[in-house]
This record gives sequence, structure tokens and C-alpha cells, in this order.
Amino acid sequence: MAELQENLIDWLRDAHAMEQQAEQMLKAQASRIEHYPKLKARIEQHLQETLGQQRLLEGCLARHDTKGSVAKDLMGKVMAFGQAAGGAVNSDEIVKGAIAGYVFENLEIATYTTLRAAALAVGDTETVRVCDEILPQERAMAEWLLDHLPELTDDFLARDVTPGVEAKR
Ligand code: MG
Ligand code: FE
Repeated sequence: MAELQENLIDWLRDAHAMEQQAEQMLKAQASRIEHYPKLKARIEQHLQETLGQQRLLEGCLARHDTKGSVAKDLMGKVMAFGQAAGGAVNSDEIVKGAIAGYVFENLEIATYTTLRAAALAVGDTETVRVCDEILPQERAMAEWLLDHLPELTDDFLARDVTPGVEAKR
């Protein structure tokens, strides 16, 4: 039982670190987007959801009598995604960023699916509930990004072929 709970706590910390990375990535993307207001608005909406998810995870960690501050640094695990998203050197930054966002949302979906199973095994029904609250937000964001990739690509290409118009962000 102690081992089960240790795994659960580790994965709660991992999820919290992942959401901190998500916050950085979403903030960076939203601040750079200039010509794609629909994507920018959706990212800003998900940024607010992400901050709420951090609070929910902190609540779960606190109930397990661990530090809510989550001092353990696990940023490196998901750093690669941040780097992909911060690809300001790419002339197709907006498209690459949306693809990286879609990949990241799917990482989150898999992470919360794992966390939910671990919480169920320990009998932590509150963490199960939290996962059930967060998962639809991640699925909705992943779905939105995938659904809007064709439109975003079309908009990018139309801007790219127009002289004097910036397409990259
Ligand atoms: Mg999230
Ligand atoms: Fe997310």
C-alpha cells in the first residue's frame, strides 16, 4: 500500500510539473501570435484551464500530506515539447506550434489516464474525480487543435503567398 501511494504521489508531482510546462508553453505561444486570433483565444482559454488544473493537483498532493509547493523539479521530462513550441526561428512557427500543442495535449491525456488508474488502485476517489474533471479539458483542446489544423494551414499558406504580409505568427 505504501508503494502504491508513493507511485501515486510521484505521478501527481509529474502531472503538476507537466502543467507548469504547459503554462509556459501556452503563455509563450499566446504572446507571440499576431495574425491568428482564433487560435490565440483558444490558447488563452486553455491557459486559464491549465492554472485551474495546477490548483486541483496541488489539492491532491496536499491531501497526501506532501508539500503543495512541489519543489521537485521534473521540468526536463517535458522540456522537449517546450522547445518545439518555442520554435521562433521557423518561418512556419504558427503551424509547428499548433502541431506541438496537439502532441502536448495527448501527453496530458495519457498522463491523466495513468494517474486516474493509480488513484483508483489506492482508493483515492478525490484524485479520480479530479482526473475526470481535467481529462475532458485536455481532450477538448486536443480535438480543437486537430479540427482547426486544416483551416490554420490554409490561412498560413494564403498569408505566405501574399507579398508584404507576415505569415509566421
Ligand atoms: Mg493540462
Ligand atoms: Fe492541456
